[in-house]
Amino acid sequence: MNNDIDKLSAVNEICHSSQFEGAVIKNPPIPKQYGDELLVFDKGEGCWLFDIEGRKYLDFGSGISVNSLGYGREDLAETAFRQMKKLVHVSNLFATLPQIELADRILSAPIPGNSHADFCAVHFGNSGTEAVETALKYARLYSLASKGKGHSRIIAFSGSFHGRTMGALSVTSTPAYREPFEPLIPDVEILPFNDSSALEKAMDNTVAAVIVEPLQGEGGINLVSGDFAKTLNRLCRQYNTMLIADEVQSGIGRCGSVFASGITGLEPDIITLAKPLAGGLPLSAVLVPEKINRILKPGHHATTFGGGPVTTAVALKSWDILTDPSFMAEVRKKGEFLHSLLRIKLKEYSLDGEIKGLGLLKGLKLKEDKYNGEWCGKIISQTREEGLIILKSGKNVLRFAPPLTIDRDELAKGVEILFKVINKNL
Ligand code: PLP
Repeated sequence: MNNDIDKLSAVNEICHSSQFEGAVIKNPPIPKQYGDELLVFDKGEGCWLFDIEGRKYLDFGSGISVNSLGYGREDLAETAFRQMKKLVHVSNLFATLPQIELADRILSAPIPGNSHADFCAVHFGNSGTEAVETALKYARLYSLASKGKGHSRIIAFSGSFHGRTMGALSVTSTPAYREPFEPLIPDVEILPFNDSSALEKAMDNTVAAVIVEPLQGEGGINLVSGDFAKTLNRLCRQYNTMLIADEVQSGIGRCGSVFASGITGLEPDIITLAKPLAGGLPLSAVLVPEKINRILKPGHHATTFGGGPVTTAVALKSWDILTDPSFMAEVRKKGEFLHSLLRIKLKEYSLDGEIKGLGLLKGLKLKEDKYNGEWCGKIISQTREEGLIILKSGKNVLRFAPPLTIDRDELAKGVEILFKVINKNL
């Protein structure tokens, strides 16, 4: 602890405008988009986080759906350590064995719409938004090659979140995220989510790409309907349009399946993955179909750090655990358990609420208008004081995205804390 106190005074000396109040730093030397006050964490173990004063928190957020295998994993740490000693970086002018092995492993997974898509390569990047940029570029390139100029439209949907860089932001629907940065990239339309007839009207062969999350993680935990999935599949095939499934949040076991697309009936041409891919290290992947890989030439796209040997070695280890069929079956069962806990609690407190989502990406929305965004914000900060980290999704949905390794007692404990707080705020 002495060490930590030294560290804190060092921070105080460097950042004259910052101050600690308990484990909270005020005015941190971090841009203000993250807020004026941040809780400072020191370590994690299993599904628990510890702040710099040693207080523990049950984590129902997983660092926004990233830490699927929980904290303090010796197996992942050892893999990273061994690989760091051996080789850290070579650039994408060369390949490494962990990168090749991981690409092979991802391509061997049971991929939705496999007979249609014919995935043959994996592009590695560093973040979800970078994966989305890559997917959009590939789709536009394919459209130009197969249909010629003037076929560059991109369709996205209300409630979508695809990232913060200019291309990904252009297909993200939230006005508050978009408007300060306009003009965004041209030829993008945002259509209502799950509205097959609006899609039918908008589609023609000028559309290069349609991008959709099988389960919207940030926009309110909304699932693609069966009818919408069928319409998306049909229209994208009819107009030779690339259907991009953004599985950055919903993929790799979070919904109890390697790919959430398969559960919803989506048959994508391109799939993006990121968040939990490398056990908390930054890594993203784009599954590339043969028809796109065939036209890619050196210079079309690249990234310095993407798919380095350390992140891919850790990802290989994580992938094997997360996509093990018995592990995913447990995620589905624990998801059902969480659903039933929430249902019981709603009944106990006579609350009218909707429980949404798949596997261990769930949302709880209370129906009455007074349980709005502001109310959710209050619940989230009060649960934190009670030792539970929980997230929001959309305006008024409480989001549950715990480490997939969580046990039933921990799920019950978290739900107990949450409803104790909800009860105080009814
Ligand atoms: N796509 C989806 C579905 C996401 O949920 C997110 C982040 O929450 C992103 C893309 C962007 O990922 P990143 O924050 O790693 O850039």
